[in-house]
Amino acid sequence: MSLLLLKSGTVHDPANGIDGAVRDLWVQEGKIVAPPEVPTDPDQVLDLSGLVVMPGGIDVHSHIAGLGLNHARLLYPSANLPLPSVTGRLYAGMGYTTVLDAAIAPLAARHAHFDLAATPLIDKAFLILVANHHYVLSLIREKRKEELKGFLAWLLQATRGFGIKLVNPGGTEHWQQSRADIGEIDASVAGFGITPRQIIVELAAAAEHLGLPHPAHIHCNHLGVPGNWETTAATMKALSGRRAHFAHIQFHSYGGSPADPASIESRAPDLIELFNRQPALTADVGHVQFGPALGLTADTPLAHYLSRLTGRRLSTSSFELEAGCGCLPLTYKKNKLIHSLQWAIGLEWLLLVKDPWRIALSTDHPNGASFAAYPDIIHLLMDRDYRKSVWKDLHPLTRERSVLGQLDRQYTLQEIATITRAAPARMLGLANKGHLGPGADADIAVYAPSSDRRKMFALPRHVFKSGQMIIEREEPRGDVWGTLFHVTPLFDSHALAPWREWQRSFGTIAPDRYAMADEELRGNRTPVALAANHPS
Ligand SMILES: [Zn+2]
Repeated sequence: MSLLLLKSGTVHDPANGIDGAVRDLWVQEGKIVAPPEVPTDPDQVLDLSGLVVMPGGIDVHSHIAGLGLNHARLLYPSANLPLPSVTGRLYAGMGYTTVLDAAIAPLAARHAHFDLAATPLIDKAFLILVANHHYVLSLIREKRKEELKGFLAWLLQATRGFGIKLVNPGGTEHWQQSRADIGEIDASVAGFGITPRQIIVELAAAAEHLGLPHPAHIHCNHLGVPGNWETTAATMKALSGRRAHFAHIQFHSYGGSPADPASIESRAPDLIELFNRQPALTADVGHVQFGPALGLTADTPLAHYLSRLTGRRLSTSSFELEAGCGCLPLTYKKNKLIHSLQWAIGLEWLLLVKDPWRIALSTDHPNGASFAAYPDIIHLLMDRDYRKSVWKDLHPLTRERSVLGQLDRQYTLQEIATITRAAPARMLGLANKGHLGPGADADIAVYAPSSDRRKMFALPRHVFKSGQMIIEREEPRGDVWGTLFHVTPLFDSHALAPWREWQRSFGTIAPDRYAMADEELRGNRTPVALAANHPS
């Protein structure tokens, strides 16, 4: 039981109210422990005087596993998407130690687990796509609420998922049936006769009743379309106080007319006002950076629209019962109005949201940019002059259509620690993550302070994963395998009988073949099942 003392670091631990105080941290068996009550000699001491110490970074919305990435690697090798073995090293190399993949089709879960098992150094989990799933939609239509809860609980257990993801609720199915975009959230989904509103409200309620640690994670209808802020506002209001997480909110904050792409403007301030007043909602930003990126989305109508717009090849896979993932390359350019505005709107969100506990840093990797852009985005948030130097080169209309130029706020290190560590841990319901109090997992990032925040956050001095040093003096060292988090909500097996019958009648895969066996998770070493069904 080797005892490690990390001595005299300048600690930023927002969850425990420590803001830049010099503290010692004691680590034993992969956990932070309370300082010994009697004088004790540690087995190892590392002096962190003058260095900044934070919990390991946590990404609440990324795409690091699954078939869509493989299609992208085949179709677009120039996009240089890292292989799983490299993904883990790149994240850990920035001091990130936990990553959530936000969109896995239930039938593709097995493949995703193999990718995650090949991803070293970080802890991981994924969300399963359910908002265009035929059986889910039919249960909502027929108001079979108990069966809906039972089915979702079973599906999460079978696929070893962590939570549920709503991508363009009902809209993908509507497009597949009619080749038309879904209307507002009260429009009817072709073939089902229910509305996006019903899907959103019922799934958010089911996630809450199941006591999932992370609430329904929503990618709203009409991503990227001018005027979509009204859909996003209607979705926020539809939830009427329920917990929910809004994915890559930047992409859903546009004014203007859908018929005229040149009319696009920021309506982020209006949405943020609404968001500030609904404390049960959280969001990740989905910031874009100028340069190459890769569109990777389960929103098939959107992928198809972008492919027509750019003339780039599109790969899209659909699974029985539920949409899969499409991919196509993107390039964000400063001289394009829409891209300039997207860059500005992400920063508007980060700078205007009052409570940093409710917003998380993300680029929706690889959609807005690679996760490797995080240090540069931190620099944009902490250094107003740097931000203004980029702002002045943007498309000239951006100045009239975004308030970013008027925002002087600069983030503190404590606020950065909040949006990249403490808040994401709380959003995901991971009680042992995102803080440095006794009982926390000893996932720790140590940075050398510098006014060049990009450099500071790109190259940590040391990183610890579960108490093991994996970066020492900026060099990789050691090989720790991360854990897989999944949930095990309880369900009544009677509620599942109709699903088994339905799957036998309409499906090509026997219901039990959905389920992952324990031995199939072997690569993930000690998966951690989190209990759900806590009274919420
Ligand atoms: Zn995403």
